[in-house]
Amino acid sequence: MQVPFLDLKKLNAQYADELKAAAARVIDSGWYILGEEVSAFEREFADYCGTKYCIGVANGLDALTLTLRAWKELGLIADGDEVIVPANTYIASVLAITENNLKPVFVEPSEVTFNLDTTNIEAALTARTKVILPVHLYGLISPMDEIKALADEHGLLVLEDCAQSHGAAIDGKPAGTWGDAGAFSFYPGKNLGALGDGGVITTSDTKLFEVLSALRNYGSEAKYKNKYTGVNSRLDEIQAAMLRVKLNHLNTEIEKRREVAHAYSRGITNSLIMKPTWQLDESHVFHLFVVRVRERDAFQQYLAEHGVQTVVHYPIPPHKQEGYKQYNHLNLPITEEIHRSVVSLPISSAMSEAEIDHVMKMVNSFRN
Ligand SMILES: *Cc1c(COP(=O)(O)O)cnc(C)c1O
Repeated sequence: MQVPFLDLKKLNAQYADELKAAAARVIDSGWYILGEEVSAFEREFADYCGTKYCIGVANGLDALTLTLRAWKELGLIADGDEVIVPANTYIASVLAITENNLKPVFVEPSEVTFNLDTTNIEAALTARTKVILPVHLYGLISPMDEIKALADEHGLLVLEDCAQSHGAAIDGKPAGTWGDAGAFSFYPGKNLGALGDGGVITTSDTKLFEVLSALRNYGSEAKYKNKYTGVNSRLDEIQAAMLRVKLNHLNTEIEKRREVAHAYSRGITNSLIMKPTWQLDESHVFHLFVVRVRERDAFQQYLAEHGVQTVVHYPIPPHKQEGYKQYNHLNLPITEEIHRSVVSLPISSAMSEAEIDHVMKMVNSFRN
């Protein structure tokens, strides 16, 4: 049996009729940029999360970058200000910071949750700290109640990187509503995935909403009048139409992912494999099911030989990347150890029970 890491064709085939009808609707409309589909999706996603606003942009990286840019335009932050970011994040969170001439302060995550906690954040605060950028990695929401309280105490802005955590919640309050803004990606492999690139920012701040709405469209509030030197970062009508279909199924997608995670959590008994832990189901949407194993290369090779495809998220932390030479000297042992040992097992709504069983059987038979 072959179990692919993520079978997007099979995943989207579940919704093929609806997706094709939505695509046809856009084709027939004759309107392809910033029209009714984008407005409707922005409304529907804001309602799903529970924010006042949602602004569609071209991708998740732009959602992060433009939010920081908007805070600069609003005079809330300035070049050289420090942004606290987990050191073990995907590079996009850091690129958004450096692109804005802000300074990333890499903070070690909790080894249990892979996310920032308030103890490590507090130790990193300086007079130049202006923003906390928590990343809800692998689908587990960060302790936002505590992080928000800390941010309020110190007068800091909070930008949540929600690219992996659509729908994850604490006390029923979802990711993207705790901070001043939430940045989402709809890259095809994300839990809410478009059939191309896409992203949004969620916020309930009217001023931020207004600046972002202009920045994504050349800095223009009214046609051919440019208040800012903005960018072209718009969500397409056709992707918005795809996302409206898939948003209707997001809760089912999350439930199925939780079922796979529960099966793995119960069924994987190999003592060489360290499984993820979480407190409440609502906090985790299992974008990824990440285990840790000392002999990672051998483990991945063994699984591959037995038909199970795995991926490492991520092999090299941002501060060790060639593009960030200025940070290569940093020593972040927890992050580096995480990067040496993590492996993601297949997980999605498209997996059959036989596939789930096969993955568990193979994981359990490694070195046994
Ligand atoms: C995917 C991802 C992004 C970037 O999203 P894109 O749409 O690919 O630009 C940002 N942060 C995290 C944590 C991600 O996983």
